[in-house]
Amino acid sequence: MQHLRTNKRIIVWFRQDLRIHDNEALDYALERGDEIIPVYVFDERVFKGETKYGFHKTGKYRAKFIIECVENLRDSLRELGSELIVRVGKPEEELYKIACQAEASWVFCNRERMDEEVKVQDELERQLWKEAMEIHYFRGKMLYYTQDLPFPVSHCPDVFTSFRKEVERYVPIREPLPIPNRINKPTVKIHPGSMPALKDFGHEDFETDARAALVFKGGETEALSRLNYYLWESDLIQNYKETRNGLIGSDYSSKLSPWLAQGCISPKKVYQELKKYEQERKKNKSTYWLFFELLWRDFFRLMGKKHGNAIFQKGGTKGEINADLEDDMAKFRIWREARTGVPFIDANMRELNLTGFMSNRGRQNVASFLVNDMKVNWQIGAEYFESLLIDYDVCSNWGNWNYVAGVGSDPREERYFNILKQAQRYDPQGEYVKLWLPELSEIPCKKVHQPDQLSLVEQEEVQVKLGADYPKAVINTSRWQR
Ligand SMILES: Cc1cc2nc3c(=O)[nH]c(=O)nc-3n(C[C@H](O)[C@H](O)[C@H](O)COP(=O)(O)OP(=O)(O)OC[C@H]3O[C@@H](n4cnc5c(N)ncnc54)[C@H](O)[C@@H]3O)c2cc1C
Repeated sequence: MQHLRTNKRIIVWFRQDLRIHDNEALDYALERGDEIIPVYVFDERVFKGETKYGFHKTGKYRAKFIIECVENLRDSLRELGSELIVRVGKPEEELYKIACQAEASWVFCNRERMDEEVKVQDELERQLWKEAMEIHYFRGKMLYYTQDLPFPVSHCPDVFTSFRKEVERYVPIREPLPIPNRINKPTVKIHPGSMPALKDFGHEDFETDARAALVFKGGETEALSRLNYYLWESDLIQNYKETRNGLIGSDYSSKLSPWLAQGCISPKKVYQELKKYEQERKKNKSTYWLFFELLWRDFFRLMGKKHGNAIFQKGGTKGEINADLEDDMAKFRIWREARTGVPFIDANMRELNLTGFMSNRGRQNVASFLVNDMKVNWQIGAEYFESLLIDYDVCSNWGNWNYVAGVGSDPREERYFNILKQAQRYDPQGEYVKLWLPELSEIPCKKVHQPDQLSLVEQEEVQVKLGADYPKAVINTSRWQR
């Protein structure tokens, strides 16, 4: 019984908040508990399971990244005098076992809001109640606290611009919480558990492709170092607004997304550094624009909270099914395997397949192409992204797919991307396409985005036989010439 426990032992359950700075659950636990037991559980359903359409739920890029995040968290906690207990299994069972063994009073965690995560926390809560223990929930995913917003979540505007205008000027962003000075080990002995390897989740070890935009290494240390690089070391932030639609290399955008997704860095910390940078070095449209993009992240999170499972359904948050879109797996495979014959699409899909990352410009184009040109059910694309993306974030991914597929609640109807125009605008010399499709390297830049315009003689000159060395386009691209 709880009243008989002399020491207040608190389990801090780390989830997608793999950091020690600005971690509300950890901070409160230290304030209220006598002893802290930090735990991370690799959920076997998430790391070993499959999605509805049969993809790995967590592909190798993200699995490796998360392992690194947890390793780094363990190192940081050890430096503070503590230890991270690591388990592989079902969190509701593993945490319950640890809680019983430690005779803990509470489990503290940062709250997740989407269905799968909520089911897990609810089940754990039911188990804990049997032993007179409880879960306490904290926050920390977003820039804003929902309680600071001028509207309840159920009334959050469905249009991004309205949301932004209601919050950006009027709602203060709270200061991030500090890193703890010390965390003592509990007096009860609990086996720390060993770190799993990639092969435990059904993946082979791999080397990152040399063309990758960045070698993303998981963990809070790397996240803070990337932020420091992007702002203070390189001043790249000063041109972010102009460069953010880039396609090649590490510097065109912040690349913070994988770390934000796993909570290795708090969005409030990014904001705090941005403000400091503006005061100490320079304030311009670009420094504002990074904040603007972080608002998108909050917006999709709020859409997820408000509309719940609708974001995963074919009709999206709008509730309107586009009957033209089919579960055509043959077409989907062409897209997935980068065989569409449209170089800008294939180059982006190859980048995704070989690195787990793709630029925002690329994501918008490949998503639009799958839905609007190939007429494939957008949910399959979203699931494939879920599997492959190193920065997969449930609300950002499904929210953006809703948006591109025209089933989000935003009223703007036309989501069609003219891929040829996009390619010519954002990859005018064809450098990006040639980087990922070296088979097209001899094609002059004027025609590299339209290999189907090459005559037979030209095909011979550039050593690309359409239909053999590179596929013919799977759709009629004449629509783009108009
Ligand atoms: C179909 C599709 C799927 C997407 N899936 C994801 C996903 O699973 N996870 C994810 O983090 N982003 C997703 N995005 C948004 C965006 O593409 C990535 O956040 C961005 O490319 C990451 O690179 P960056 O960190 O360099 O971004 P930057 O341009 O430097 O932006 C800074 C941060 O702002 C946030 N952000 C920027 N754009 C968006 C956006 N459109 N929506 C939500 N947040 C944004 C991200 O946290 C990002 O790290 C998706 C976009 C599309 C079109």
